[in-house]
Amino acid sequence: MHSGSKYLAGHSDALLGVLTASPVTERGRQLAPILKTVQVTAGGVASPWDSWLTLRGMRTLLVRVEQQSKTALALAEFLSNHPYITAVHYPGLPQHPSHEVARSQMSPFGGVLSVELENEPAATAFAAALSTIKRATSLGGTETLIEHRASIEPEERRTSPPGLLRVAVGLEDVDDLIFDMNTALAIAKQVMDEPK
Ligand SMILES: *Cc1c(COP(=O)(O)O)cnc(C)c1O
Repeated sequence: MHSGSKYLAGHSDALLGVLTASPVTERGRQLAPILKTVQVTAGGVASPWDSWLTLRGMRTLLVRVEQQSKTALALAEFLSNHPYITAVHYPGLPQHPSHEVARSQMSPFGGVLSVELENEPAATAFAAALSTIKRATSLGGTETLIEHRASIEPEERRTSPPGLLRVAVGLEDVDDLIFDMNTALAIAKQVMDEPK
């Protein structure tokens, strides 16, 4: 089961899911007609427009994900050397605790990373000071998006650290993204330096 809305469609303009059953396994061959019946009788049918956008998007899936992964790694390296960033989580970094597992399963390492600043005010000040990078949910599109996860998690189910931001890398020039982050971090530093 895949979300077609993210990387497959790839442009943040379609909403649909994809369910596949393998034609080469016994289980897949059993499941396919059952799923088809459920789809037809329950009416879970993707709209033609979203289906068309997703098929069109999938033609560039490989080049988009390769580029997004390359940019994500460059951003992860830049951020892990930045003094105001306390942690960078990206499986493509050799220092990531699961890097060896990731290396055996992933190639390349994908377009999503997360970073931590010292606390929530620092993180939200950084996100607010960005300009090329937009504050929004979602991932897998052409625009780089950032989100303060703890703010959107219900209080009783909050698992994200208060200073954590998720970055979903798009297709902009990597130097523009690094410039944007560098500038925004300098602005966020003013918040970090305020007396507590
Ligand atoms: C992921 C997402 C959805 C849901 O899409 P699914 O296909 O169910 O994954 C809706 N809106 C936004 C902004 C999203 O990021």
